[in-house]
Amino acid sequence: MRLAIVGVGQAGGKVLDRLFEYDTAREGGFIQHAVAINSAKQDLQGLEHVPESNRLLVGESIVNGQGTGTDPEIGRACIQEDLEEIRSAIDRAATSEIDAFLVIAGLGGGTGSGGAPVIAERIREIYPKPVYGLGILPAADEGGIYNLNAAKSLQRFVEHTDNVLLFDNGSFKHGGESLAGGYAEINDETTSRFGMFFSAGEIDAMAGNVAESVVDSSEIINTLGQQGLTSVGYATEEIETRDGGGLLGRLLGRKDDEPEFASEGSATNRITSLVRRATLGELTLPCEIESASRALLIVAGPPEHLDRKGLDKARQWIEERTGSLEVRAGDYPRPDSDRIAVLVVLSGVTDVPRIEEIQRLAADAERESEARAENSDEELEELIEYDDTE
Ligand code: GDP
Repeated sequence: MRLAIVGVGQAGGKVLDRLFEYDTAREGGFIQHAVAINSAKQDLQGLEHVPESNRLLVGESIVNGQGTGTDPEIGRACIQEDLEEIRSAIDRAATSEIDAFLVIAGLGGGTGSGGAPVIAERIREIYPKPVYGLGILPAADEGGIYNLNAAKSLQRFVEHTDNVLLFDNGSFKHGGESLAGGYAEINDETTSRFGMFFSAGEIDAMAGNVAESVVDSSEIINTLGQQGLTSVGYATEEIETRDGGGLLGRLLGRKDDEPEFASEGSATNRITSLVRRATLGELTLPCEIESASRALLIVAGPPEHLDRKGLDKARQWIEERTGSLEVRAGDYPRPDSDRIAVLVVLSGVTDVPRIEEIQRLAADAERESEARAENSDEELEELIEYDDTE
């Protein structure tokens, strides 16, 4: 699927940067145009792959290149101030050449949280193409303000997009590591999932990648629908190469490093078990899979391992587990890969405990800040009260 991508704020810019690297390593594919937007000059300078001419500093007259300090209202104002410049930076995308727009942002901060929904809304007013969001949710322990920002931003983001794909930082934070230290790894996880998703429909037919049922962008668009939330599951496994091939291998004329050609049964089983792992394991947004309205299954790997029966069986299994009748499935041939990777896209999910938790934490944070404001009003009154009895 060919995309024009806008990364907003620090997290949005960094995830865009990694996707750009992923896309370039595969000699192009799904990114037709990329723009990184931020109110913090330093964050923009820290990007490594998005070309400098595609980075836009906004809100200079408001924050002077210093960022918003986790204040989405300031983030919103910075974006609104330079909305025309943003429009012309996005406009450099040849819109006839793209299938959709993607706006990426961390929803718990300031620039991305406040700005991403405004940008999505503006793009939708101008272009007759779907606009998707990729929203990063704060981990629960990042604190009340992050959850409050995310709760407000998510509501607006959903309103102004055709679908918001969510990635929950909390689910990918392992062990005792700090979140900041883990970002590089977390961004790798984000990239392998969403990079595979968006590049799936863009295989290079010239390279001889002709498969039985290759995923195309209309299937992605139909799966994402016209409003809602999406969670993505992923699992991958290396295809074993024969260790030396042994005598039998040599007698059969197999070279030592020749990959094992999957027998039909093992290729089927590998796909069905990977699909189970992807669906029941770590989703980008933990949710009850029965609440999904639509699903898309993508299996990537060398064509000889993309077993038709495995794909059909796995699709049936997803239909049974989700109860959805709208389950699509397709191949993503990667002749040079030594892995099989499976992506399960669950769209229109509604039963999401993490969002309920964010809303609860947001309400707590709001109550606390109101109480603090009332308290400080009283304290100020006490402080300045002039006692004229003396
Ligand atoms: P902004 O620059 O004002 O939009 O703020 P940020 O993008 O830094 O948003 C803060 C939120 O994004 C917090 O929840 C952080 O945990 C998260 N965040 C910041 N950088 C990254 C990153 O590189 N990857 C991920 N997954 N999350 C990030």
